[in-house]
Amino acid sequence: MRTPITTAKRIVVKVGTSTLAHENGQTHLARMEKLSQVLSDLVNAGKEIVLVSSGAVGIGASKMKLKQRPQTVLERQVAAAVGQSELMHLYSKFFGEYGHIVAQILLTRDVVEKKILRTNVSNSFERLLSEGIIPVVNENDPVATDEIEGEKSFGDNDTLSALVSELVHADCLIILSDIDGLYDKNPKTHDDAHLIHDVLTIDAAIHAMAGSSHSSLGTGGMATKIKAAEIASAAHVNMIIADGSHPEILYEILEGKTIGTWFHCSQ
Ligand code: ADP
Repeated sequence: MRTPITTAKRIVVKVGTSTLAHENGQTHLARMEKLSQVLSDLVNAGKEIVLVSSGAVGIGASKMKLKQRPQTVLERQVAAAVGQSELMHLYSKFFGEYGHIVAQILLTRDVVEKKILRTNVSNSFERLLSEGIIPVVNENDPVATDEIEGEKSFGDNDTLSALVSELVHADCLIILSDIDGLYDKNPKTHDDAHLIHDVLTIDAAIHAMAGSSHSSLGTGGMATKIKAAEIASAAHVNMIIADGSHPEILYEILEGKTIGTWFHCSQ
């Protein structure tokens, strides 16, 4: 029984591109709707939910009917600008079906680093959550132009979700992925890989397990999730990686069942 998870009130849920899209790149509407339903229900049950959602570039590319995924930074930014509004339209519609309101928060790295901006956004989160509104967070991709230099952008939404968890003082971060947790080696390439249920300390052995991503849609792979776990742990936030293909899994996770990989936070 994972008691600290069952008592978590403020929860950040991160969904990856591969969870929100079909293999062919088109939006997985049924999954988005189910996710919105489950998260609405969790708010009804008294939880505070922040959703960190990827998917803007993919949705934008499909809306623009691009033949292939955008290649250059500028093409990705254009697709993200188109896709972000479509993403929010869909969330607004699906959460609205269950009587809930969503709010868009787009972040750039300087927002979490500069004290005044950090305080402003933190106040916004607090007020939104106290009103029962679900903040939907993403990186402000058309603005974060320095992705290539790797300085001012978050780089990936796993890292973003961990920094948001720290910012809102979350009790728990749940990363929903196309894989059901951390394996001792990449399960997509090794049939004998074993799922790890608990990570107490993130050491060199854990880092070594995370290869580069082999999914065609996702960007971060396991390495960025381990990095996110380090940020979360240092901020005293428990983190779980689980399979996002059936969003109802969130109920079982929050019941404390042994699902996915639990990265225990430092005390
Ligand atoms: P998301 O879009 O959800 O962020 P990613 O595709 O970026 O998902 O990351 C998950 C992928 O990481 C898995 O599908 C798998 O191919 C890869 N991976 C590499 N090493 C591991 C490992 N040790 N355990 C689990 N997955 C791994």
